Amino acid sequence: MDFKLSPETESILNMVSEFSRKKIEPIANKIDSDEFDPKGLFREMGSLGILGITVPEEYGGANLDYLTQGLILEELSYYSASIGLSYGAHSNLVMDNLNRNGSKHQKERYLDKMSKGELIGSLCLTEPGAGSDAIGSMKTTYNKMEDEKYKINGSKIFITNAPIADLFLTYARNGSIYSAFLLERADGVETPKKLKKMGMRGSPTGEVVFNDIVVGKDRLMGNEGDGRRIIMSGLNSERAVLAFGPLGIARRALEDSINYSTSREQFGQKIGDFELIQERLAYMFTKLEAARLLAYKAALMTKEELLDPSYAASSILFASETATEITKHAIMIFGGYGYMSEYPLERYHRDALLYEIGAGTNEIRKIIIGHNIQKKRFK
Ligand SMILES: Cc1cc2nc3c(=O)[nH]c(=O)nc-3n(C[C@H](O)[C@H](O)[C@H](O)COP(=O)(O)OP(=O)(O)OC[C@H]3O[C@@H](n4cnc5c(N)ncnc54)[C@H](O)[C@@H]3O)c2cc1C
Repeated sequence: MDFKLSPETESILNMVSEFSRKKIEPIANKIDSDEFDPKGLFREMGSLGILGITVPEEYGGANLDYLTQGLILEELSYYSASIGLSYGAHSNLVMDNLNRNGSKHQKERYLDKMSKGELIGSLCLTEPGAGSDAIGSMKTTYNKMEDEKYKINGSKIFITNAPIADLFLTYARNGSIYSAFLLERADGVETPKKLKKMGMRGSPTGEVVFNDIVVGKDRLMGNEGDGRRIIMSGLNSERAVLAFGPLGIARRALEDSINYSTSREQFGQKIGDFELIQERLAYMFTKLEAARLLAYKAALMTKEELLDPSYAASSILFASETATEITKHAIMIFGGYGYMSEYPLERYHRDALLYEIGAGTNEIRKIIIGHNIQKKRFK
């Protein structure tokens, strides 16, 4: 497996790095607040050309691979995990899905504007009573009306970007038939509540309510009944790409820890000279590099449904656990300062925990891995 990046990917990453240093790093603490609105940054990321990184050029995209998308997410998350998460929801969860499953008319209507950051997307699957069992317990319904129109009712929760979104890729059922819809805010979609969170505070999360929303057939994504297939079509790439979020957080925590341990002195010497501190750093480094190898492998293997789901699931399972561990070690290396909000270490830890829950919890990822590796054994 070749991990050498293409010159194009290298140059995009350099650009993202420079942008993040200039535009995100100076306000990273401000971003970590419930009040922050990332819309302006979406426009800037649109100008950089990174929002539609995997969609075809005719829709304003760059037609590059999931590894590049993941690496961009890692770089953004290194500076602000919240911006990385909102980027992932918009670019991967919504744009990639729309590019895979939308009609030509839908792609023309939305993708170019989304590539520019003029329209922000959110993917609405989770409901108050339907989380891990998102399909079986779904309560959002649609009815087909006489004039080829659809009426949608229900609500979704924990939806990334919902408070600022213009486009809502959502799922609804009619009995046992599931369908996917592209709803616009102007259709009457309500986002009554922006939710307060432990971490990822600069990535707005909200409730979404559909109250007798009536739309035409042009808003159906795929055919009626394609909902289940469309949900499943996005899960591998979503997990493989989002795994790079925790990698970015963990890389930052490790680098900050190395810098701190080579400057902080106790007992007349740098704390980095104590072997117990070196032991922590060695462990952090080794776990991060192992998580990176798995994430690269899963991202390179991700070709829509072709990837064995156990790779995408194990990639984000391991990366998320690694980030939780590494950010905790980083707090310990900083001692009391690590616990203070004035320093970003506690933010890294709060942000990292999300990746053990969002995009399907670590328990669900383990179930997927267990199920798929057994299938392989019996082939
Ligand atoms: C900040 C944030 C952003 C999010 N963004 C989005 C988004 O953009 N779009 C979206 O649709 N959703 C989003 N989510 C929702 C997320 O995907 C769900 O929270 C997640 O799937 C878990 O669902 P739940 O919270 O209802 O937990 P539950 O499913 O109720 O799970 C509760 C606990 O039970 C465990 N559990 C459940 N089933 C099993 C089982 N079979 N075996 C063992 N253990 C089990 C879970 O692992 C968990 O520990 C977001 C969540 C957060 C916190």
